[in-house]
Amino acid sequence: MTLQELTGKVSTDMLSVLVVEDELSLAQTIELYLRKEGYKTERASDGEKALALWRAFKPDLVILDIGLPRLDGLEVLKRIRAESMVPVIMLTARAEEVDELLGLGLGADDYIVKPASARILMARVKNVLKRGRTEEQKQVLRIADIELDAYAVQVTANGQDVGLTPTEFRLLQHLMQTPGRAISRLELLEVSMPESDAYERAVDIHMTNLRRKLKEAGASDIIHTVRGLGYRIQD
Ligand code: CA
Repeated sequence: MTLQELTGKVSTDMLSVLVVEDELSLAQTIELYLRKEGYKTERASDGEKALALWRAFKPDLVILDIGLPRLDGLEVLKRIRAESMVPVIMLTARAEEVDELLGLGLGADDYIVKPASARILMARVKNVLKRGRTEEQKQVLRIADIELDAYAVQVTANGQDVGLTPTEFRLLQHLMQTPGRAISRLELLEVSMPESDAYERAVDIHMTNLRRKLKEAGASDIIHTVRGLGYRIQD
């Protein structure tokens, strides 16, 4: 399958890759490989820039080095995963680290040990993009009359669009991923507002707004309060 067949798009709408690597020459080499293959690229040299660029640029794939200044790659991955299923390939300097990282279940799509040849890198990129698309298509969660599409970042209730803020969307997404499970305010805070220093009480405020919007869309009594702990969504 070619890239065009995969995406159904031609070169007017290229797939984009964010390259996060603090070794400049390596980052530039990776960008060069990608551009030769027709990808659009952006580059970040530290973890904070990576998150800012990721939000602004919404790439189709992220290539993420583990050892980075400011925020390391694992922390960047964690924050990306709190918001998105975008495919991520981690770069590591040590082969022996890969098994350990795989065991942690961090949600990376692949690991590449540096230095990697252009051929290996491009093969992994294509592979992960292909897989990523398939997994993202499955990212539609349904509970009662609510449908959450993680790829389109859209929620509908009874077929009606529910306009949620990104925080409300992440709260609902996290609840819908494990229906029936009582989830603490702290956990909800971490997944929905990973970069803010809000208190757990902030979760209640967003939850009130989320419930009101769902109710207005005809889906009430879906999210239950778990006294002294947090919230649960009922299947
Ligand atoms: Ca590095």
